[in-house]
Amino acid sequence: MPMAKNICKLPLEFCQFSSPVGTIKVSSCSVGLHEMGLDSSLSDENFAPNGLTDVLVMGAKGKDLSTIMKLCHEWLQQYFRDPKLISQILRPDICALKQEKKGFRAQVWQILADTVGPGEVITYGALASKLNNPGAVRAVGSAMRNNPTGIIVPCHRVVRSNDMGLYHGGKRQSVKLWLLKHEGVDKY
Ligand SMILES: [Zn+2]
Repeated sequence: MPMAKNICKLPLEFCQFSSPVGTIKVSSCSVGLHEMGLDSSLSDENFAPNGLTDVLVMGAKGKDLSTIMKLCHEWLQQYFRDPKLISQILRPDICALKQEKKGFRAQVWQILADTVGPGEVITYGALASKLNNPGAVRAVGSAMRNNPTGIIVPCHRVVRSNDMGLYHGGKRQSVKLWLLKHEGVDKY
């Protein structure tokens, strides 16, 4: 996952979860998540969903997770069990979205996470329009490519008008398709 340009200097906690689509790596400060993403080696060539719905804490950290990591675990577990019910679980805060002056990318991530739910898709252009900036399609694309907190900021729901669009520069199309189907989007 791309490094987030985050001005936060608080100490970070790291955790890994096993999920139906592979290992999910998460980092967080006490304010919120910094990064959440699938293992950097994951690609269409080695993607192997396990057919289960469980999300497990990896390593020996299970008992002493911070509040925010516990919440993250609960959120991921609900997402993989039934994404339609995700709104029943409190969404873990995202550090970059808690900062007072949010840059354009953070605004894109915020509105995407707040307004485009499971089972929905939105085009890059429509997302730019939601930000009252319909000309900012490429900037929206850039925000998606640099999204440090995947799944929770659902860049997989951002599509092109004529096709599914790329995921991780086109290296994880099968992952995008899996996530969309998991949420009930069947048109791709
Ligand atoms: Zn932080």
